[in-house]
Amino acid sequence: MSDTIEYSRSGPIAIIALTNPPVNALGAPTRQALQRAFRSAIADPEVSAVVITGSGKLFSGGADISEFQNGLGEPGLPELLCEIEQSAKPITAAINGTALGGGLELALVCHYRVASASAQMGLPEVTIGVIPGAGGTQRLPRLIGVEKALDIITSGKPVSTQAAHDCGLIDQILPGGENFLVEAIAFTNAQLANGRATNARAVERAEPPQQPDFFASFRTKVAKANRGRVAPLRALDSVINATQMPLDEGLAKETDIFLECNGSAEARALQHIFFSERKVVQVRDIPAHIPARQLAGVAVIGAGTMGGGIAMNFLNAGIPVTLLDLSGEALERGISAIRKNYEISVTRGRFTPEQVDNRLRLLEGVTSYEELGKADLIIEAVFENLDVKKKVFAELDRVAKPGAVLATNTSTLDVNAIASATRRPQDVIGLHFFSPANVMRLVEIVRGRESAADTIRTALDMCKRIGKVGVVVGVCFGFVGNRMLEPYSRETHRLLLEGASPEAIDRVLTDFGMSMGPFAMYDMAGIDIGASVRKENRAAIAEDPSYCRIGDLLAERGENGQKSGQGFYLYQGREKSLNPEIPELIEREAKALGITRRHISDQEIFERSLFSLIDEGIRILEDGIAQRPGDIDVIWCNGYGFPTYCGGPMHWADEYGLDKIHRALTGYQQSLGEHGLRWFLPASSLSRLAESGGRLTDLFPNI
Ligand code: NAD
Repeated sequence: MSDTIEYSRSGPIAIIALTNPPVNALGAPTRQALQRAFRSAIADPEVSAVVITGSGKLFSGGADISEFQNGLGEPGLPELLCEIEQSAKPITAAINGTALGGGLELALVCHYRVASASAQMGLPEVTIGVIPGAGGTQRLPRLIGVEKALDIITSGKPVSTQAAHDCGLIDQILPGGENFLVEAIAFTNAQLANGRATNARAVERAEPPQQPDFFASFRTKVAKANRGRVAPLRALDSVINATQMPLDEGLAKETDIFLECNGSAEARALQHIFFSERKVVQVRDIPAHIPARQLAGVAVIGAGTMGGGIAMNFLNAGIPVTLLDLSGEALERGISAIRKNYEISVTRGRFTPEQVDNRLRLLEGVTSYEELGKADLIIEAVFENLDVKKKVFAELDRVAKPGAVLATNTSTLDVNAIASATRRPQDVIGLHFFSPANVMRLVEIVRGRESAADTIRTALDMCKRIGKVGVVVGVCFGFVGNRMLEPYSRETHRLLLEGASPEAIDRVLTDFGMSMGPFAMYDMAGIDIGASVRKENRAAIAEDPSYCRIGDLLAERGENGQKSGQGFYLYQGREKSLNPEIPELIEREAKALGITRRHISDQEIFERSLFSLIDEGIRILEDGIAQRPGDIDVIWCNGYGFPTYCGGPMHWADEYGLDKIHRALTGYQQSLGEHGLRWFLPASSLSRLAESGGRLTDLFPNI
């Protein structure tokens, strides 16, 4: 019938299949084709009922989100769904696979819903800053009740077919596979014989919950879980409307709220991150057709904190792992840490004991490099020391099979220098995982001078297989994330000496939306780790004796943060309080360094910490270390707790105004004496753009 819809008949049943790979998105051409197919079915006297399904693995991934920012084509999904809803002939949604957003809203206007056991259903709109805009907030509560509907709508999380069946969202679970459609047709025939088709339109209003203050307490809960966000609360408002208004009025209000949310900074930010996370796989000068190398088996060198976490990712994806450490003892320690981690997952109900056994069966511990010859990918996660790493890579060069990808998990060291220890620098790459490596989604893929195109493609492919977002970056000290973290650390530490407290600085930055304050973060990551990174980077900071002074002193004293029970804060059980020695330490050091302490405003804390980080991000773009601003944003939102609803530091800077950032930086350059002159000269592109009134994306487009 069209490229995006297949229309067929099975006796009196018309079958309309969405055929718009990869996700059967409901963009304008698909909506037009769906409308034509639906009208044909209604007009055909030989058709008594309709089955709507999806071809391929999905039912429908929902709207074409690019339309949200570029304008919606005709017919709009809300109108089309109202037309389908009023069909005189019964319609079954045969949910063969994932049905999200507009896809689920399409299913909600049908008279019946059947789903394969492996399908998932959800309304993830709030995760991109909007509310369901094609009836989701009105029809779902009418069909399954307000409480369940609110959980699905305000969390944005999908539910399984079983859960959907339990709450009445679907009528029947059908076996998946080849017979699914046949079964769905049989179901529809059976309904024709004995059923009286109704749908959400038949329900005057959704029944409000019994508990009188339900909505008020739900609002408090949602606000707490979604700090700084508006869309989930507006979704709640819309669901409340479903309990108070007839359907058409509720739908009209839903459209208003959708449009209001879609015009918000929150929606722009979240949609920017959504698209940026999909764009990272497009790497300049690496054509899409370059295939990845085989990835059937992986080896990890170093069974420490990172090595263990990295190994778990592959075990979870069903990929065998050979784990190597220097001694049987170190190996045993690493393997028991992995086992313990999995045991915790079992107690939390994430995995069954059987699933854990299956994973552990894929893990082999070894102490000899000779055992690594089979691995397609070898990831080194030994101590952060160039000589040690070079020795490891020389060994890998000796034992790895030809074509194996050799990766280092270094956080700061020169990947080119590491590659030079081998005779195959084209196969060497950095894979910078974040801690805890089995949890954090981000991997910086560090492209060495000689990394081959298919080495990079293999790294990207690997990230996809283990559910990570991999961002390709260039070689420099700290790559993208840690390089930007440096000026943030520098300023937050310096502000202590000038008069601010760790608590005030942490409060200002968490109020902005950072998932943790900087000092709580240094304590969590290990103060010694930051200090040893600074040692490696001494040349760049040698002239500033105040540079992260307090952090370095704490590291010297072995007060390394959470792991030693004491750092900037004191940790006693679950209690955290300021380390009582910190105020005196700061005052003493400020005096020794000749820094006069004064009152520091929240605005100053905010500007100096964040704008320094943003300025470094601009330099990273100028140096070509990151390919686009969106890549930096993906890194900061996934690896450093930058609020996704602000879209990452580069997007946020464009929204906030580069001129304001530039003005503040030049102001500090003048007002902070030697410190200002040393560190606050704005990046040249920032100066240019501030003057022209441009955005970062004018110079560095997100393409
Ligand atoms: P770790 O000290 O916990 O573990 C290192 C392990 O490597 C130890 O088990 C040690 O026995 C083993 N090892 C040392 N030399 C070896 C060799 N020659 N051959 C085989 N095994 C050897 O260290 P970690 O925190 O897991 O860090 C490992 C790497 O990951 C470092 O390069 C670090 O910079 C990087 N990294 C760490 C973090 C973090 O937060 N910890 C985050 C990102 C990257």
